[in-house]
Amino acid sequence: MRNGQVSFWWQARGIPPRRPSLPGGTEADVCIVGAGYTGLWTAYYLKRADPGLRIVVLEASFAGFGASGRNGGWVTAALPGSRARYARHPQGRDGVRELERHLRDTVDEVARVCAAEGIDAGLVKGGTLTVATSAAQDARLRDRLEQERSWGDDAQVVRYLERQELAGRLQLTGAVGALFSPDCARVQPAELVAGLAEAVTRAGVRLYEATPVTSISAGQARTPAGTVRAPYILRCTEGFTADVPGQAPGWTTTARSRRRPSRSSAGSCAGCSPPRPRRASSTRGAGCSGCPGTGARPSPWTRRPASAGRGATRATGWPPRTWPAARSPTWCAASPAR
Ligand SMILES: Cc1cc2nc3c(=O)[nH]c(=O)nc-3n(C[C@H](O)[C@H](O)[C@H](O)COP(=O)(O)OP(=O)(O)OC[C@H]3O[C@@H](n4cnc5c(N)ncnc54)[C@H](O)[C@@H]3O)c2cc1C
Repeated sequence: MRNGQVSFWWQARGIPPRRPSLPGGTEADVCIVGAGYTGLWTAYYLKRADPGLRIVVLEASFAGFGASGRNGGWVTAALPGSRARYARHPQGRDGVRELERHLRDTVDEVARVCAAEGIDAGLVKGGTLTVATSAAQDARLRDRLEQERSWGDDAQVVRYLERQELAGRLQLTGAVGALFSPDCARVQPAELVAGLAEAVTRAGVRLYEATPVTSISAGQARTPAGTVRAPYILRCTEGFTADVPGQAPGWTTTARSRRRPSRSSAGSCAGCSPPRPRRASSTRGAGCSGCPGTGARPSPWTRRPASAGRGATRATGWPPRTWPAARSPTWCAASPAR
């Protein structure tokens, strides 16, 4: 893999032939900007919910060009960030528990869709191991287990493995013990996103590649080839969002909002007509909670609320600052690379 190529995963698989670009201006019920997991899963479930919906996906490069085709290949139910922080939401601890249940279900849902759509993404659900290799790490693991229990996670969700039981799963010099969570799978991410793109086009979604959106406004996504008009425009551009003209303020405001609260409501949802103000804490990747397929639901791939990903970590505080010091080595048990 040479610097400048898209990713190991795409190199291993090969980049598919480019789909046609948008031929000219058109109309749709929903226009999705960006064909990564956020855009494609949204298109997938919208089409299932209402097969009659006219959905257009506009992709600047090719489906899976972004983080979706370049990530670590973990389909993990781990909640990014602090539960206590999430619990400040009006739904409190119950809301967090509910979210975590969805996150766990989503691992199986991704596997189900792969099977149903014939996506051979090498998905294997082997769980996550967090291994202690010193007494200090072991003490922290046990503390963590207690915390998990205090949130109601039983042994089905996470359990401690003594050295001997761990050795049956992973041979690691100096391993003392581990936490094991079953809700994690490994996947070839480029295969997954390529398969998902095929699935949505099969379902009748119009996916145009090499079609950069140059501006988004209420009911309109403009491209050099023409404008797509739709009552709902979903911006699913994740880490690229700041490069979409006019979108940077809403995208970057959340990170700054603690310091500059006066800007915290600067974002507006391109999906609402007229655009409705969006609070800084609302999801960035795909419009607002008033739009279909968005709001506080976890992204089927990342299982983070809506479209969050590493590109969003500056805003969400994920991973927590305390992790590097406190953390033990963690493996996605089925991952070939780890
Ligand atoms: C190194 C790395 C490792 C990761 N590992 C994991 C992991 O193991 N497990 C996990 O769950 N998550 C992981 N993530 C996070 C996960 O990959 C992302 O959260 C997820 O892929 C984001 O999907 P997305 O669709 O929101 O964004 P993207 O996949 O980035 O898709 C956005 C798309 O929008 C397109 N686009 C951008 N601008 C425009 C425009 N103007 N017009 C039209 N299209 C445009 C881009 O070309 C791109 O295809 C990782 C991320 C990184 C970077």
